Amino acid sequence: MTLTNTPPFVTEALLEEIRSWVVIESPTDDAAAVNRMADKVAADAVAAGTKTTRFPGTNGFGDHLLVTSPWGAEDEPGILLLSHLDTVHGMGTLDGALRYRVEGDVAYGPGIYDMKGGAMLGLAALRHLVRSGATTPLPVRQLFVADEEMGSNTSRALIEQEARRAKFVLVTEPARNGGRIVTARKGTARFDLHITGRASHSGTNHSNGRSAIRELARQVLDIEAMTDYATGLTVNVGVVAGGSRANIVAPTARAEIDMRVPDAAVGDAAMARLMAIRPYDPDVTLVMEGGLNRPAFTKSDDIAQLFEHARTLAAEIGFELEDEATGGGSDGNFTAAMGIPTLDGLGVDGKAAHTHDEQMIVSSLVPRATLLLRLMQTLT
Ligand SMILES: [Zn+2]
Repeated sequence: MTLTNTPPFVTEALLEEIRSWVVIESPTDDAAAVNRMADKVAADAVAAGTKTTRFPGTNGFGDHLLVTSPWGAEDEPGILLLSHLDTVHGMGTLDGALRYRVEGDVAYGPGIYDMKGGAMLGLAALRHLVRSGATTPLPVRQLFVADEEMGSNTSRALIEQEARRAKFVLVTEPARNGGRIVTARKGTARFDLHITGRASHSGTNHSNGRSAIRELARQVLDIEAMTDYATGLTVNVGVVAGGSRANIVAPTARAEIDMRVPDAAVGDAAMARLMAIRPYDPDVTLVMEGGLNRPAFTKSDDIAQLFEHARTLAAEIGFELEDEATGGGSDGNFTAAMGIPTLDGLGVDGKAAHTHDEQMIVSSLVPRATLLLRLMQTLT
């Protein structure tokens, strides 16, 4: 009985645990580093009394890790917590541009906000249940993937497999401005445009050349003009390259394009339009490759209902929970698109993800961990 009087979470203890995760740097493209992070999370999960399953990495990426509550049958529909082990920060960031430090209510470090803080809070909530001898109406499973920051290509099948035995998905991605959680995300599509013209000496034989750069310039304007803020469609040509020397008519050029779509209908139409572009110069060829990476995550009625439930729980805990839509994708896009009620942005509050100013608000730890715990306890 004394256990129930113990406060589930203590700020200093949570912060120290998050520090112990942050100091293990885990850039997506360094599989050995991500696996060291997986080792640490697996050790903490086993110490917490949960079951773990490790999935060896593929295509040069790190391992994925599944943590399972001791209660609940294998095939019983449950709650899936979605987390990632990797960060965007290269090795050495911790010793240079973004040292771990705490200044007042703010803690800095690579991946502290996106998303080691939130991932650790999810495990801490599950651990609290195990230690207090309680079970929840639904089994709880937390999946830590290795490659979210590079598109989750090697984890998507596993995410979808776990989502199929989930009634609800809770994503521990960082909270937005002021602690808002996320109930809609745009879908993400990526394309590479390759343009082939004809090289020629720019002085002696200019008229014989077919400039791939000239073609690229015209196409870039058309492609970017597809952006429509009214529907939420954005098309960004983020990288261009082409040509070889100033005195050669450019034989090749290329562009990398990022498209964000608010829903499947707008997305399908925009992608069809992009794939159908034709060259202005008939002697130039265009090849467009790519497609949808993460489907749109729209706020369904089920998601709206789940959000209302979370908002009620937050009010009981003592804070006001709001939600918002964002243009950034996450693994929540996969599960929401499958029709599984998904709440995202349940991780820590803070700001400046993916920069050398990345930071987490320390006083958000206990309320956010408590909300995750209450969701686990009350979802049926
Ligand atoms: Zn993230």
